[in-house]
Amino acid sequence: MAETYTPMIEQYREIKRQHADKILFFRLGDFYEMFFEDAEIAARELEITLTGRDGGAGRRVPMCGVPFHAADTYIARLINKGYKVAICEQVEDPKQAKGIVRREVIKIITPGTVLSDVLLPDKSNNYLVVIHEQNDIITMAGADISTGECYWADFAGPYRLNTLCDHLYRLSPAEIVLTGLLTDKETLDTFLANRLHGCTITNLAIENSETTQELLQHHFPDEELPHSGAAIAVGHLLYYLHQTLKTDLSHVNRLMRYNAAEFMTIDTAALRNLEITRNLRDGGRKDTLLSILDFTQTAMGGRLLKKWLEYPLLSVHEIIRRQDAVDELLTNPGVRQVLQEKLGHIYDLERIVTRAEVGTANGRDLIALKQSLSSLPTIKLHVQSMQSALLGEIGAKMETYEDIVALIDRAIVDNPPHSVRDGGIIKTGYNQELDELREIAQDSQQWLMAFEAREKERTGIKSLKVGYNKVFGYYIEVTNANRAAVPSEYIRKQTLTSAERYITPELKEFETKVLGAQEKIVQLEYYLFTIVRDCVKKHIPRLQETARQLAVIDCLVSLSEAAARYNYRRPAITNNREIIIRDGRHPVVERLLDREVFVPNDTELNHHDCEVMIITGPNMAGKSTYMRQVALLVLMAQVGSFIPAREAAITPVDRIFTRVGASDDLATGQSTFMVEMNEVAHILKHATTNSLVILDEIGRGTSTFDGMSIARAVIEYIKDRIKAKTLFATHYHELTELAEQKKGIKNFTVAVKERGSEVVFLRRIVPGGADKSYGIHVARLAGLPKKVIERAQTILAELEQYAVAHVLAATALPAPQAHVSLFSDPIIEELLKVDIMTTTPLEALNILFKLQKMA
Ligand code: ADP
Repeated sequence: MAETYTPMIEQYREIKRQHADKILFFRLGDFYEMFFEDAEIAARELEITLTGRDGGAGRRVPMCGVPFHAADTYIARLINKGYKVAICEQVEDPKQAKGIVRREVIKIITPGTVLSDVLLPDKSNNYLVVIHEQNDIITMAGADISTGECYWADFAGPYRLNTLCDHLYRLSPAEIVLTGLLTDKETLDTFLANRLHGCTITNLAIENSETTQELLQHHFPDEELPHSGAAIAVGHLLYYLHQTLKTDLSHVNRLMRYNAAEFMTIDTAALRNLEITRNLRDGGRKDTLLSILDFTQTAMGGRLLKKWLEYPLLSVHEIIRRQDAVDELLTNPGVRQVLQEKLGHIYDLERIVTRAEVGTANGRDLIALKQSLSSLPTIKLHVQSMQSALLGEIGAKMETYEDIVALIDRAIVDNPPHSVRDGGIIKTGYNQELDELREIAQDSQQWLMAFEAREKERTGIKSLKVGYNKVFGYYIEVTNANRAAVPSEYIRKQTLTSAERYITPELKEFETKVLGAQEKIVQLEYYLFTIVRDCVKKHIPRLQETARQLAVIDCLVSLSEAAARYNYRRPAITNNREIIIRDGRHPVVERLLDREVFVPNDTELNHHDCEVMIITGPNMAGKSTYMRQVALLVLMAQVGSFIPAREAAITPVDRIFTRVGASDDLATGQSTFMVEMNEVAHILKHATTNSLVILDEIGRGTSTFDGMSIARAVIEYIKDRIKAKTLFATHYHELTELAEQKKGIKNFTVAVKERGSEVVFLRRIVPGGADKSYGIHVARLAGLPKKVIERAQTILAELEQYAVAHVLAATALPAPQAHVSLFSDPIIEELLKVDIMTTTPLEALNILFKLQKMA
């Protein structure tokens, strides 16, 4: 027998067929209902009761529902869990409908296209990203629809997918749309699984290129995209946005191109390890560099500062422009304070403008806009008076929108209600017709009072009352005791236990007039409101530009505030291929220490006598802190920020690489050592002479000789071939010998002071190599049982004695060759022949296997 459902369920099924990958919110009266599988998912995810409904032919269909006025929070919860939601509304008046009410999906909400405040964090973007590959180029097109930002970027070359992944990590998109197959989908999948697990993936391939071409033309008429792949990517992005939001999206009017060559590259490992915008603990902001530097007052500024930190500059000129501005604001605390105060009154202009465009801005948004814009004249005045080019230019260009402020001020009440359809939004004196209608409505109060008094008088009923309710309208209420005195022309309308309610033709006539006026007031107010809102809409591109200018000012003020509070200094930005820092401090650690004082340290990396610093020293002495500090200060300098140091001269680096600490990639099924070697291989492949490389304890995950040999080979390779500035912390003291053999490598150690059996870490990085590792000392600090510590000391003493005897014996042998002086061993020789650059992980394992057999 053919399945027959009720007509409504059939209608539901038909619509659901077109939106199979979404949860369909199907409007039924005051509820959004979900059916079948959607109902089961929603009941589970939203913890609401699963019920059922007769679906026709006696079958029960699973159902659950949420009240429409509370739908936003339920939708938010589903989106947060990675679902997409399609909102299906009744699109004709049920009273007028013949048969079943027509319904249509009026919008779709996906993680990458949300506009609801509930879901959007203030100080970060919410990106939707399209990835398209064609002719060995991957094009990524991305948009944050809540702010109108839209841009694209190309990734080419053999490592294009890795570079793309690094880029995605910075963006942290909520949703990725794939247009088709990728050559190396596996890399993307692994990356998504490990680093972007919350991200929703959507597949979309539009055959008809005219559709995308038209959208491109509509949004970016002046934009010429250099190749068809870019046009397809951006076209798909626009198409998807239109499909989901179903509005004109005129705020998407500016297409930017991201050019990787303008910015320092910070790959995923470095971004994570240096805890620039996300901490390693839980991915949050706490204790990150961003958390230290963020004194921004506006949401736009907050979002921009995050970008500045994730995309440090390469151009000396651009860095100095920012520095000049920060410097000037630092030396003018008065101006800084005024700007902070004024910026503090500015709302999220970008998102208000978006709401104006999509038609969801309400009266409160317009008041927020007015308040924000009212701060502009003062901001402009101060910024304009600055000498530094960046501020001066912004100040000169900044518009102040007196006309919009005046319009909103005339039209919108200071404290408008949330809803735009219930009246109470428009000020008196703004529109004559509205004022007249309001007078009628107001006069009605007086009329009613007069009417009531007259009727009391006429009937002699003292307790007679005139009232109003929604169902019966205006009525005259007479208590039962006075029923006998009710005149005959009163028409009975409603009986209560203690009273009767009546109407009269006169009262009815009045009611029609008043209610008509009230209805008209509400309609007229809404109409007037939309006109004001549309007026704002006309200025969208200009307002967006202003929002961007404010964001820049906010970031500069924020950086100067950090500099003032934490005693940062301006680093000289040079072209001398150097990193010279005097008394540098770790910006985050120095803020976290409560009892100890942070001990400043120097750094001097240059291309003649110190390209590589080998840092030895006991565990917990401060080696990693020091190395990260150097990386962070270089990064801060390239952002245009001042830095925690007495003085510094820094040449911009093209990339920062880190191989630090224990890896947490075990989920991928690789061994820790394998992951470590992968990371090292990545660094050796991509580092250039202009890079900064931080290597912490590499080779730890394998046997001592293996580890030591690899560590040494890596340093030699970097020194001889790449010539990147490198900081290398190691507990292999043997490696300090390299400094004697190669110019440009220097040894450093963290100073310690021994007091009897106690060891005090001085936290000072000093020239020279460490000769002891103090591991047992750290073990004691960590609370290992006394017995274990004592036994360890005994073993250590024995081992040391053995080593001395061994060395004495060895010195009797002929001198080994210079470059393998320390480890004259066939295994080492074999190992040193390996070109790590060209060795795949599998080959590396085979080599290790061979070496192990030789042992
Ligand atoms: P290592 O890498 O040598 O094992 P860390 O860099 O992890 O040591 O430092 C250990 C701890 O020492 C840090 O957590 C920090 O609290 C403290 N520390 C490091 N450097 C300094 C410094 N320069 N001044 C004060 N405390 C420091």
